[in-house]
Amino acid sequence: MKKQWLIRYSEIFLKSDPVRRQWENTLIANIREVMPGVHVRNERGRIWLDGEVRPDLLKNIFGIVSFSEVEHIRLDEIGSFLPDYCRRHGIDTAKTFAIRMKRVGKHAFTSNDKTIEYGTLLQSGFPHLKVNLANPDKEIHVEIRADQAYLYDNVTKGPGGLPLGVEGTLVALLSGGIDSPVAAWMMMKRGCRILPVFAALDTFLDETTIARAERVVEILARYQPGIKLTVIHDSYLAEAKRELVSRHLEKYTCIFCKRRMYRVATAFALQHGAKGIVTGESLGQVASQTLDNLLVLTDAASEVPIHRPLIGYDKEDTIRIAREIGTFNESISKASGCKAVPSGPSTKAKLAVIREIEEKLEATKMPLPVF
Ligand code: ATP
Ligand code: MG
Repeated sequence: MKKQWLIRYSEIFLKSDPVRRQWENTLIANIREVMPGVHVRNERGRIWLDGEVRPDLLKNIFGIVSFSEVEHIRLDEIGSFLPDYCRRHGIDTAKTFAIRMKRVGKHAFTSNDKTIEYGTLLQSGFPHLKVNLANPDKEIHVEIRADQAYLYDNVTKGPGGLPLGVEGTLVALLSGGIDSPVAAWMMMKRGCRILPVFAALDTFLDETTIARAERVVEILARYQPGIKLTVIHDSYLAEAKRELVSRHLEKYTCIFCKRRMYRVATAFALQHGAKGIVTGESLGQVASQTLDNLLVLTDAASEVPIHRPLIGYDKEDTIRIAREIGTFNESISKASGCKAVPSGPSTKAKLAVIREIEEKLEATKMPLPVF
């Protein structure tokens, strides 16, 4: 008998052969990265692992739909092996059971023949057991492939999605608050490697906010090993805010800040070969996220697309995901807020007005920070 882990993946099947192979190889490389000692084999649309497999790590590898610990024997051994397998897997405590059969290949028997044969075998060994196909206490999965048999009694869900990296790289504007880590994670789940960037907004944010973003990125490292936060210091906002206050235009502070942030993120993305930016904006959630204000950001980052996976989410939806992925507690941990936010921020900025003001500001001439 050989113990192995069976990894199931999904959407890869929708792809043409070369793309499918490339995605499978990426998934395998991602598994090897976190479990270097494990032997990986790819066989007709499934991945098999043996060695020191860590199921807790498999749960965080995108592209994996589900996985099972499997015992593998020759088909002709199953009669003597099955009762022992079931005893080791707690059949004594079950009142009802079902055998789930899958058969691949040409055989002289049908799946149904084997289900009945194994069911009868189990009931003779464990006379208390009754069959219940709809809602059994215990499910025994038997897969017959040619002359081999695979037994398992558990199917653990993976995160699904696409293997990390198959879509390329995105820059994430990551504040460390609740939304942006969830947005970044959602794009990771769709195959994007993330380069997280924190805009330090000197002197309006302090080390507590940087530290919080660092801690959040440490959590995201469960899903993307080795992910590193880039902290970009920029004194633009200090200068722009001073000028806006003197012109009684302080209400636009957040808009100018965001336009700058988008420009910085665009330059960073282009420098690092990233194909876009992801942010945690959600429509109408705060003053800066009205449709009017989002419109005003369009020309600040026109060279790469901005992805906002949370745009239609309610806060509760985002919080639910933040809890599931483990970032929530860090995101609500203590950090001082942005000291530049004005008391009545504009919710209805007009692009033409903003452009006109921007042209007049000295701060506009400040070069982008060097990364
Ligand atoms: P979050 O929960 O992600 O902090 P928010 O609800 O506080 O978002 P805003 O402050 O309007 O909303 O920020 C909108 C988006 O802008 C954030 O989701 C994030 O992507 C980006 N962002 C905001 N502040 C920063 C920052 N200091 N560094 C990097 N990105 C930021
Ligand atoms: Mg925030």
